[in-house]
Amino acid sequence: MGLKVVKFGGTSLASAEAFRKVKNIIEQDPNRRYVVPSAPGKRFNDDTKVTDLLYQCYEAVSNGQPYDHIFNAIKERYTSIVTGLELDYDIVCHLDHVYKTLPSTVTPDYAASRGEYLNGLLLAAYLGVPFVDAANVIFFNAQGQLDMAKTEAAIKEKLADYPRAVIPGFYGSLPNGEIKTFSRGGSDITGALVARAVNAAMYENWTDVSGIYMADPRIISQPKEISHITYSELRELAYAGANVLHEDAIYPVRQVGIPINIRNTNRPEDPGTLIISSNGNGEAESDVTGIAGRKDFVIITIEKALMHSETGFVRRLLSILEEEDISFEHMPSGIDSVSLVISECQLKGKLETVIAKIDKRLEPDKVEVFHEIALIATVGRRMVYKKGIAARLFTALAESGINIRLIAQGSSEMNIIIGIENKDFDQAVKSIYNAFVN
Ligand code: ADP
Ligand code: ASP
Ligand code: MG
Repeated sequence: MGLKVVKFGGTSLASAEAFRKVKNIIEQDPNRRYVVPSAPGKRFNDDTKVTDLLYQCYEAVSNGQPYDHIFNAIKERYTSIVTGLELDYDIVCHLDHVYKTLPSTVTPDYAASRGEYLNGLLLAAYLGVPFVDAANVIFFNAQGQLDMAKTEAAIKEKLADYPRAVIPGFYGSLPNGEIKTFSRGGSDITGALVARAVNAAMYENWTDVSGIYMADPRIISQPKEISHITYSELRELAYAGANVLHEDAIYPVRQVGIPINIRNTNRPEDPGTLIISSNGNGEAESDVTGIAGRKDFVIITIEKALMHSETGFVRRLLSILEEEDISFEHMPSGIDSVSLVISECQLKGKLETVIAKIDKRLEPDKVEVFHEIALIATVGRRMVYKKGIAARLFTALAESGINIRLIAQGSSEMNIIIGIENKDFDQAVKSIYNAFVN
């Protein structure tokens, strides 16, 4: 097996003990040459991630409030790792620098990125390998979107000089040099970008579970593990809410066919889940590969007689969303009705304006708004060939007394999406899981 890029998540680097496990894993395989760390995560249930503490620091600084007490908690996280590892490394000097620069470089992204930056320095010192600052190799354009070509070229060039290196996850830089982060969980994306640029044989993503489960382990106790999953299925599941891997981490490696292996830092002997382009001649393990969902959507349903014969209706509707800078998730339609499914946070403070514009420009007969909607995606590459899957799913929900507010099917035909009330979320996941697993 050739070169591997290994990304370690927050819980895998939350304490000195966790750092030791990481070092062991890296030393077990000389192909594990490029390491992408997250910031220290939770050590126990009520613990706070360093990234969250840094966002709190930013809030305090920008409101002109003292931030020493929050920063001290961050300092304690790093110094306890250094002490626990008996490492001769002056992390305090870097911490002091961050402390001093926070008020003058006050952006939330800069503050949050320091979690990965400091952990990267620490891990590089502990492993005895060079540190490569992500600000010099991960680039965003002026609009804040990833500049893939520039990033790939920069990583290639930089890492050509280093057979081994630690590259912190989660951030990069804008054309003006300012630090910019990906969205939460974005270290997964950094790992994928490094894997692509160095043409890795494998992208290992080490976390606190032994792979991707068929459903969220916080809802289903001991769900079945998925041994193989295709990029497309995972993309659907990750987007729908299975946040074990950031949804944008798939594209960079998928394009060049680098497999992703999700592994457990606490159980390195487990094979984990392998993510590949197709499972060759092998059958899918079951009719449904996985179930995932998110809460807090709004459905706006618009009815108008003879809508189907009115040209430009949908275009005018969508132009309202565009003007308000709102993106939508789904748009199921009937003959004389159309619904928009939009996440609650996208609509925040804009709902009244949107409805007013719809009333004025489209003159509908009726507009209804349903809040507190959850979307659940049931994903499986075999679903397209197999009869009766939808019937099983809907029967399971009906038997649990769950009212379905909306049905949508991804154009790939390997994804059935249902909209239900937030309060029915856990029960709906359980019912679907039981219908296909037990
Ligand atoms: P890391 O800090 O290592 O990046 P994350 O917290 O981002 O880890 O992702 C791992 C977590 O994802 C697991 O601890 C689990 O609670 C959650 N999770 C949600 N859905 C799933 C799923 N279908 N399979 C596995 N884990 C899942
Ligand atoms: N530390 C960042 C977060 O908590 C990025 C990551 O963990 O991937 O979101
Ligand atoms: Mg993560």
